[in-house]
Formats: sequence, C-alpha cells, structure tokens
Amino acid sequence: MICNLNALFVWLYAISGAISIVKAQTQQVFQVDSKPVAPLSTKERIAIIGAGAGGASAAYYLQRYSDNAYDITVFEKNKYIGGRSTTVNVHDDPSWPVELGASIFVKENLNLMAAAKDLGLTVRSSELGRVKKQDDISVEDSFGIWDGKSFVFSASSESSWKSIAKMLYQYGTAPIKARRLAKQTLGSFLKYYEESNFPFQNLTEISNRYGLVNLTDETAYNYFTEKGISELFVDQIVQAATRVNYAQNVKKVQALEAVVCLAADEGLNVEGGNWRIFDAMLQKSSATVRLQTTVTEILRSSSDAGKWELRVNDAEDAEVFDQIIIASPYHQTGIGGSLFNIPEVPYMTLYVTLFTSTKRLSPTYFGLPNSATVPTMLLTTLPADEEKGSHMPPIFNSISIIRYIPETKEYVYKIFSPSKITPSFLQLIFLPGAEFGWVYEKTWKPYPKLDPVAKFTDWKLDEDGIWYLNGIEQFISTMETASLAGANVAAMIVGSNNNTVISVP
Ligand SMILES: Cc1cc2nc3c(=O)[nH]c(=O)nc-3n(C[C@H](O)[C@H](O)[C@H](O)COP(=O)(O)OP(=O)(O)OC[C@H]3O[C@@H](n4cnc5c(N)ncnc54)[C@H](O)[C@@H]3O)c2cc1C
Repeated sequence: MICNLNALFVWLYAISGAISIVKAQTQQVFQVDSKPVAPLSTKERIAIIGAGAGGASAAYYLQRYSDNAYDITVFEKNKYIGGRSTTVNVHDDPSWPVELGASIFVKENLNLMAAAKDLGLTVRSSELGRVKKQDDISVEDSFGIWDGKSFVFSASSESSWKSIAKMLYQYGTAPIKARRLAKQTLGSFLKYYEESNFPFQNLTEISNRYGLVNLTDETAYNYFTEKGISELFVDQIVQAATRVNYAQNVKKVQALEAVVCLAADEGLNVEGGNWRIFDAMLQKSSATVRLQTTVTEILRSSSDAGKWELRVNDAEDAEVFDQIIIASPYHQTGIGGSLFNIPEVPYMTLYVTLFTSTKRLSPTYFGLPNSATVPTMLLTTLPADEEKGSHMPPIFNSISIIRYIPETKEYVYKIFSPSKITPSFLQLIFLPGAEFGWVYEKTWKPYPKLDPVAKFTDWKLDEDGIWYLNGIEQFISTMETASLAGANVAAMIVGSNNNTVISVP
C-alpha cells in the first residue's frame, strides 16, 4: 500500500494553490529511439532472475531499446509472474481479484503509467478505503488515525472543508509545509528520468547530486522537525503514512520514504491487478519465462571466457549466458556461493490478512461512541510520549476496507500487521455476531528495514556482465523504482553495444 493519505492531501491541495507541481518533468517519460540495432549474428543471451516489477521491466526495456536484439530467459521460482505484485480472488471467484501485495501507484510513477498505456491496460482510481455503500451508489470515504486507545485525527471526504479546517486547526501550517517539501523532493526525483541523466551509472552519485542522500541519510522524524514541521504532525500524520506504507516508525525510517508518501495526489491501480503490467511487459519482450524454476548457482564459465553459467533447481547441467540480471533481493534468492559482495540488507516481516464480513468494525473497541462508524481507512500511530505506558500501542499498522461486494453484501478488509492476526482478535474488533466468510493470509518480506543510508549497492556487480537491481530498494522501495532500476540497467546494457542511441523524445 502506498500514499494512503491521498484523500487528505487532495483536500490540502485544493487550498494550497501556491504549491508548485513539477508538470514539466511529468511529460518526460524516457524513451529510447527505436532505431534497429545492427542485427547481431547470434543474439546475446541474457538471463533475468525474478519476474517481478524489476525483472519484467528489464526484459521489456532491453527489447524496446534494442529493437528486440536479445535472447532473454526469465527465471522465476514462483508459479506466477509479478513477485510482490500479485492478486488473490475473493471467495476464489476470478471476478473479484484484490491486491495481496503492492496495491497502489500514482500518476507521477512515469514508467508504470507509460507502460500501462503502451500495453493497453486500464489504470483506474484505487478503491482502497473508498468503498461503495450498501446502496451500491454512494461512496464512503473516511480516514482516521488511531493510537491504540482513541482517534487522534479523522476526516471524511463528505465534509472535506470541515476536515481541512480541522487539520489546519490541529496542525497549523505543518501540512502545507510538508506537502511543499514533498513536491520539491518529487521534482528532484523526476530529474533521474531526464535525458541528460538517464541512464544513471551510479544511484549514489545522482542521489548526492540532487540532494536526496540528505533525506535517505536522516530519519523521517529528524528531517521533518529540522525543517520546522511540528512534532505533532510528524508523530501523527507522517507516522501513520510510514507505518502503513513501510511498517516502520518515524524515529527509525529514513526520510525519503516518508516524504514520497506525502507527495502523491491520487492512488491508482490496474484493472484486474497491477501484476498485469509485468505480465504484459514479459509478453511484449518475447522473453522465455520459466516459472517454478529457482536459480541456485551462478558461476564463471569455465569454457567461455567472459560468460556465465547458471544452474537451476540444483540441476547438474548449467546453462551459459552472456549477461545476468539479478532482479530480486539477493540474500532472499538462495543463490549459493560468495561470488558477489552484496551487503546484506534486512527486510521487514509483514502479515497481510484479507477477509470478508457483512459487519463493520466495532466503534466501542476503537474508543468511539456506539452510534459512530469506524473509518473505512484506519491508520495507526504510537501513543504520545505522555501517554506511553498508559495504554498499549496498536498491534496492527492499518485496517482498510478495500472493496464492497454487492452480490454477497460483504466488505473486503485488509489488515497489515507485524504479527499474525488471530481469530479471537478479529472477533474483538468487530461488531457482535460478525462472521468472516473468506479469510486469506500471507506473510511477506515486503521492503527493507529502511534505516538511514548514504550509499546504495552498485548496478554492476561484475564488469563481465552481472547486474543487480534491488540496491534501489534502500533508496525507495516501490514498483516504480523497481521498474526504473530495470529500465536503467537495460539502457546501460544496450548502450554498451554502441549501436543504439538512447534518448528522451
Ligand atoms: C504487502 C505489500 C504492499 C506493498 N505496497 C506497495 C504499493 O502499494 N505500491 C508500490 O509501489 N509498492 C508496494 N510494495 C513494494 C513493491 O511490491 C516492491 O517494491 C516491488 O514489487 C519489488 O519488485 P521486484 O521486482 O524488485 O521484486 P519482487 O517483486 O520481489 O520480484 C522478485 C522475484 O524474484 C523471484 N526469485 C527470487 N529468488 C529467485 C531465484 N533464486 N530464482 C528464480 N526466481 C527468484 C521471486 O519469486 C520474485 O517473484 C508492497 C509490497 C508488499 C509485499
């Protein structure tokens, strides 16, 4: 989930006309001239390990930048394409898919937007926390931040001006200042896509050049408060965003992730599931996709100098490739040996619990009057310092209604939590008599533990053609940045052939 504070910031946006939006850059989706490269006598063989956003993008852009000059094989240990971007069907009914992993992107995600258009997919507003009511016509769209005992902030789009007034009353000018900072940061990030910068040889270097290492190397709390944004706003609004998007609190998580969460206007997704972008990218690339095939070893070729051997499923025979792109967090791949010196990055553990119920959450459990309705998007923060010890912090990061199914009159709920949600906890937080028609659980390693960091792992692990995409996750961990990493490495590989001009139109 990302940028769940959309509604809130759409309202803010309405009153902060002075905030500049980097429109100019948003036009500049990078592209490469589709001039055909000189036909290679035998196509260069490239292996990509992982069919998620990064690996699929690498395959798509490699072929697009070179006019299909490569023979690409994608190895994927799962039986599906998409990796951390995947859907499950409510009640196993394919007409009700819901996102189990990455659920939202935004219009500023230039790669995803351009690819969806190119691949003929429909991008639409996310229903997350914005559901049709039981009349199937009107929409319920409310938002609240709960600290384990009571709501510290709540808003509803039905009374948006009241909500804006409430926010300004509660936080002063902090929301406007934070929004301005977020837009400036987004402007710096969009420079990475510009013709003069793309492809960038070194993520650390370009991030220093555009000042973004100042944010990755600082906690969100320190960064915002040093910029004069009130502690209350950081502890409540920013922390709600970092907890739902990255399962981490503001005093630990690096600031860039937090700032990015505040920059977007509207959450989007692809009809049928975001994974369809990556599936369509792979189809368009004509790559051979080998599902349920785990790469277990990468070796220097003993017979072909400068080439690589790759062993799958611990088989005896190895396959030879000219170049290999590792498109998955390396220490989770299980690839043996110590050929590459990639610093180990710990990943968070996140439990995603999806379920249906005809009932709503219990207002009394959440400290509301009996007659109140609990918000459709419930985010969390920690108790304020003076209340620490007086009550328990929330044991989950968010509970959202992600869609309403008129046929069964059920709401579909999604809970993000750092530990397993038990059936007894579900009974506790719901109105009496609640039954849970369908339940689906998944434990993810969703994103790195985003401690402040000033240096990112290089794209190039070996001069002879071993590339790594997932160093970008310590910078920003999203589908878009995975895709950008894939495109960037693809452009570097094609560029080194010296027969294709890489340019932005
Ligand atoms: C619950 C959750 C919510 C999220 N919310 C959002 C969101 O709203 N918006 C957003 O933009 N991002 C979100 N993210 C993050 C986003 O999903 C990731 O940043 C992005 O999808 C990473 O793509 P990737 O290709 O780098 O890695 P992955 O998607 O993890 O793909 C790597 C692939 O490599 C495969 N693999 C691993 N080892 C091997 C091997 N040895 N051999 C063969 N295959 C192998 C894996 O099976 C996997 O399919 C979320 C993630 C989760 C889990």
